Amino acid sequence: MCGHDETLMLPNSKWRVHDEKRPLPRIVTPGTCSTQDKPGRPPSDAIILFDGKDTSKWIGCDGGPVRWKVENGALIVEPGTGDIQTKQHFGDCQLHIEWAVPVEVKGKGQGRGNSGVFLMGRYEVQILDGYNNITYADGMTAAIYGQYPPLVNACRKPGEWQTYDIFFVAPRFEGEKLISPAYMTVVHNGVLVHHHVELLGQTVHRRLPSYKPHPPKGPVRLQDHGSPVRFRNIWIRELKGYDE
Ligand code: MG
Repeated sequence: MCGHDETLMLPNSKWRVHDEKRPLPRIVTPGTCSTQDKPGRPPSDAIILFDGKDTSKWIGCDGGPVRWKVENGALIVEPGTGDIQTKQHFGDCQLHIEWAVPVEVKGKGQGRGNSGVFLMGRYEVQILDGYNNITYADGMTAAIYGQYPPLVNACRKPGEWQTYDIFFVAPRFEGEKLISPAYMTVVHNGVLVHHHVELLGQTVHRRLPSYKPHPPKGPVRLQDHGSPVRFRNIWIRELKGYDE
């Protein structure tokens, strides 16, 4: 026996304190961290979205094939070919994505190394060259675009690999009605930049965000904003509750 059956019930739970019958979590083998030279290994239960080889998990947002390049283990935006998105759709999730803006510093503000990662195809975490590059706060690197600046600027230099770890709670709708909003926690290069913030709605430009009802799952979308931003080591874990 390695638990108790005589203790009090936890509030809002079907389990007792130290409940002997409470199921043990399944085992996940952790991955390894990336270095500049080499992407790390994802945890054992991750769904691999890009592992350096091909774009088989992706389609163009226009429904056509992906026209971005795969070169030296990186997926590279081919400017003018449009956004891409995953074939599979996701709701609550943990997303890991690595990206690098071009070494050659070109343009300024929103015009330098712009891309973005959209959860459910709608909620953008901004990708931008934010190293010695000034732009508006809610549009800078790691901003939840148009809503929240990151808590700090944790950018690496152009050309260096950077990481986002995004913890996303999908919004819930009942018919047309919003039941609960989306929440995001974001870690940029190991630094917390958003701590469970409530999203105001889907990402828009120069307008107020609002929610439009959508299905409970959506694709991960990557933005073609005219800059050859590189990506590597993209993986996702679907999140479930304690008893699922
Ligand atoms: Mg963007």
